[in-house]
Amino acid sequence: MGKATGMATYTLPELPYDYSSLEPVISGEIIELHHDKHHAGYVKGANDTLEQLAEAREKEQWGNITGLEKNLAFHLSGHILHSIYWRNMTGDGGGEPLEKDGTGELADAIAESFGSFARFKAQLSKASATTQGSGWGVLAYEPLSGRLVVEQVYDHQGNIGQGSVPILVFDAWEHAFYLQYRNQKVDFVEAMWRVVNWQDVSARYTAAKAGGGKLLLA
Ligand code: MN
Repeated sequence: MGKATGMATYTLPELPYDYSSLEPVISGEIIELHHDKHHAGYVKGANDTLEQLAEAREKEQWGNITGLEKNLAFHLSGHILHSIYWRNMTGDGGGEPLEKDGTGELADAIAESFGSFARFKAQLSKASATTQGSGWGVLAYEPLSGRLVVEQVYDHQGNIGQGSVPILVFDAWEHAFYLQYRNQKVDFVEAMWRVVNWQDVSARYTAAKAGGGKLLLA
């Protein structure tokens, strides 16, 4: 490794609850493996890829630039989405944002963007449950329009609009549910609504909205 490398940029965040806190919706065994092994792998992958890119720059060896850029997108996006995912959930969750977020701003934004909470819930559920291979269902703030949108993410990084800020993420990879739900991804997605931490989603919405409008400095 060259002298420009070596600094670990990303670290695995601690879970804000015990492994078993989301039971019976998600088993403690799944959460432990998912956080300690899968998420940790994306953190290491992102840091390793940054080191490999630094080495490529130093040696001016660009033969694998395409693979390195793809790996950076994959691992970094995996790290970011999982960091949001853990905070999006709580054992005391569920219900609707109007009851839980205190301000009603998120509930209003959902109604304006999707017609109603029920229609939003149906769209995010369907997008999550119909991912092909590995992916996520994501509620994101889209800063150009100021709307909320649902995205069906391929792997961790594909099929998204540039600039969109994820505020509620449903992990639909098999590692997120298979030990408990086997092949019943629809059942897992339906159960997920019972652990949604609307206070966290609402705080993310407020922060995303405050940071919006800076995407195009025309
Ligand atoms: Mn995952």
